[in-house]
Order: sequence, then C-alpha cells, then structure tokens
Amino acid sequence: MGEQRKTQIVVIGGGAGGLELVRRLGGRYGRERHDIILVEKSRTHVWKPLLHEVAAGALDANLDEVGYRSHCHRWGYRFFYGTFEGINREAREVLIAPLLDEDGTELVARHRIRYDYLVIAVGSVTNDFDTPGVAENCLFLDDREAADRFRNRLLNHCLRVSRAMTARGDADEHVRIAIVGGGATGVELAAELFNAAAALRHYGLEVFDESRLKITLIEAGPRILPALPDKLAEAAKEELENLGVRVLAGVRVVEARPRTIVTASGETIEGDLLVWAAGVKAPEFLCYLGLETNRNCQLIVKPTMQTTQDERIFALGDCCSYTPEGEERPIPPRAQAAHQMAATVFANLKRSMDGRPLKTFTYHDHGSLVSLSRFSTVGSLMGNLVGGRMAVEGRLARLVYTSLYRMHLLAIHGWLKGLALILVGHATRIVRPKLKLH
Ligand SMILES: Cc1cc2nc3c(=O)[nH]c(=O)nc-3n(C[C@H](O)[C@H](O)[C@H](O)COP(=O)(O)OP(=O)(O)OC[C@H]3O[C@@H](n4cnc5c(N)ncnc54)[C@H](O)[C@@H]3O)c2cc1C
Repeated sequence: MGEQRKTQIVVIGGGAGGLELVRRLGGRYGRERHDIILVEKSRTHVWKPLLHEVAAGALDANLDEVGYRSHCHRWGYRFFYGTFEGINREAREVLIAPLLDEDGTELVARHRIRYDYLVIAVGSVTNDFDTPGVAENCLFLDDREAADRFRNRLLNHCLRVSRAMTARGDADEHVRIAIVGGGATGVELAAELFNAAAALRHYGLEVFDESRLKITLIEAGPRILPALPDKLAEAAKEELENLGVRVLAGVRVVEARPRTIVTASGETIEGDLLVWAAGVKAPEFLCYLGLETNRNCQLIVKPTMQTTQDERIFALGDCCSYTPEGEERPIPPRAQAAHQMAATVFANLKRSMDGRPLKTFTYHDHGSLVSLSRFSTVGSLMGNLVGGRMAVEGRLARLVYTSLYRMHLLAIHGWLKGLALILVGHATRIVRPKLKLH
C-alpha cells in the first residue's frame, strides 16, 4: 500500500500574523500527517511595529529578530526561503520566484509548491498614492532593510553636523527630516528620533544634541492621529511641539523632489531625509492572482477569512480586506487584527479538515496606543474591562503598549521561552548601549 499523502498547508509570509499561525499549526499537527510550510522572503523576522525604533537606532534588530530556520525546527513546520509570485489554482500550486545571488546569479530556479490549503499573509507596503517623485526620493519603513538604511543615513548626517560644528564654532548646522503622514508611524518615528538624538552625545558626538534636529511632520487630514480621540491627538501634538517638531495638519503633499517636499500650496519643505509614512496598500502582485481584490490590491475575504473565489485559500492581516456585516469600514491594518485573524484561520483550517462548519471572525478592538518614545504614551483602550472606551496616557499606556510585543513573543515562542525572552530583554536593555550606531 502506498504511503498516505500528507495534508500540505502553505502559509505565505511569516510576519505578525503568519508566524503566529505556523507556530500554532506546527505545534498542533507536527510532521506526521501534515506538512506545514512557511514561505518567506526574509531569513529573519522582526515584528513590524518595532521598525521605527530600529530606524532611529533605539532598538538593535539583531537582538530582537527571530531566525526562521531555528524557529521552524523548534515548532515542527518547514521553512522555504523565497518570494511568492503567483498561484496555479487548478493544480493547487504556489509559484516561487527564482532565488538570485547578490550578483544576479540564479541559485534556485523558479519552482512550485503543492498545497491543500493556502494562507496568504504577505502584509502591506507603503502607499505613495502615485504622488510624483515619492518612490525615488523618500524612504519607506516597510521592512528591516529600509529601517537599517534610514538609520545609516541618519547617523551619517548627525556625524556631518557634529563635524561641521566642531570645526567651526559658529556653525549652525542641522539634520532636517521631513516625515509625511501624521498617523502612528510618523508620530512615533518623530518622537523616537528626538530620543536618539539626545543620546548621541554620549557616544562620541559631543556637540550633537536634540536641538540639532529639525523635524517637520506633515499630515493631509485636519489633525494628526485620526484613529485617536481629539483630546489625545491634541496631547500628542503638544508633546511633539514641545520637543521641537513642526507639526503641519491639513497640508497635502503633491510632489517629492531630491531633499524637498512640495505641498499643494506650493510651499517647499527641505529635508536631508524624507520619510513617507502616509498609508499602506497590499503588494501589487496580489491584484494579478485571479482572486477578488479591492483598489488597494487587498484580497477580499469572507467572514471565515476564506478568499471569496477559492475556499481553500485564506488571507489574513494587512493584505486582506474584511468589512464585518453592518460596519462601514474594513478592519484596520494593525498587528492586533493580524494576531486575531491568525487565531481564526487556525481554528477554521482545523474545522475545514474535520469537515465541520467554519467560524466567523469577530474583531475585538482593544484600542490604539501611540508611543512618543520615553517622553509619553497616549491612546485609548477599548473593551469590557474598561467599560467601553477609555483614554489613557503615561505609565499605564506605556505598560499596555509594551505588552503588545510581549504577547507576540508569547504567541510565537510559547509561554516558557516567551517569558524567558521577556526577562532576558529586560536584562540586556540595562547593559546594552542605548543606541545602535552601526
Ligand atoms: C513603524 C510601524 C509601527 C507600527 N505600529 C503598530 C502598533 O503600534 N500597533 C499595531 O497594532 N500595528 C502597528 N503597525 C502595523 C503592523 O505592523 C501591521 O499591521 C502588522 O505587522 C501586519 O501583520 P501581517 O502579518 O499582515 O504582515 P507583516 O507583519 O508585515 O508580515 C508580512 C510578511 O510577509 C513577508 N512577505 C511579503 N511579501 C512576500 C512574498 N512575496 N513572498 C514571501 N514573503 C513575503 C514579509 O517579509 C513579512 O515577513 C505598525 C507598522 C509600522 C510600519
């Protein structure tokens, strides 16, 4: 008798949602009768909400990254390093792009992986809304490489200013940074940069401090942080302005040129570094998979998280769009949504394999928190525990903010290792340098 074919579950993207899912699937099913496969284009995982800290140098991603190879060995799934580029739905195969060496030599040819169930969790990329010059002249905080690139350029400019001021006592040099987008990413990055600049003088740039930073935060909407109540957004704006950030609301950017942002009124804002953090969209190739998408290329999913045209293909996190019945807006692209969707997809894969009806995804909005680095944390918490919606600031908000990452650590490592890592993280924070300077 031939060997029974294993049920193959392929998850594309090992980010906030995908990595939690493969860890649960691997932990539950192991390798005996199932093959759980993660396809991921990076070798290591860094939780995306930490990227602004990596960019500012406040966090050393080498210490917080998770290597997929060791993680898959621990949790019983297989890791395929590669970039997903298409699906053959009739044959139930995913297509993986050729793997190229740095010099362009093809190391692994284009290949296919069979699936019985497919989960697409490829996240999002920055949306430049086709604004001229943005792709060429602005930095995006989409991944670890982009955050590292930002940090290196930032440090180079800090060095330039520090040298100029050491050489000429009367020099009045600045590092100018323009951030487009007054959502959580832009606001958190602006505050984190001040924190980093203040620390730099302890690391050899004696004449450099936060007064050498000139940050402009530009938001097209009437106020920054649209996801938070007016009062909290106002508190965050005040805090930023106290730090020295120039906050512009109701200002639309129409073009980016080298080192210059151009607004609809014709004003030009100069920056040594231009950062675009004004919204997200799904990667464009999702629009060409033959599955239903919206104009942001997000895959439309049913309440079960299955794609509308193929019951064997699920999608979760930023790359999918789901609007619950009776609601006007889709679930926002957040780590907490990806985390909750991963739990529903896990349950529904099990139900599907058992031949049971699938469950409906229910989103529990636990609120939004925005960290202004060590200066402040503001946000609103939602839920029965706080009796609906509660505005929070300060220590409590900071505690809840950091607990989001801790929950992710527990979800991907399990309780024992997760707790150990949280404790080790506390210890290394005391002994390691406050900034990553290389
Ligand atoms: C600076 C910043 C701060 C944020 N702060 C918060 C916050 O405080 N709270 C919050 O809730 N949310 C926050 N977010 C949003 C949050 O990070 C995302 O909503 C969340 O990461 C989405 O999870 P995901 O699993 O859908 O995608 P991701 O976590 O982005 O993971 C997608 C994975 O897919 C991989 N991938 C992509 N394309 C391919 C491909 N073609 N082939 C193979 N692999 C692929 C990527 O390498 C990545 O590992 C923040 C985002 C940023 C950028």
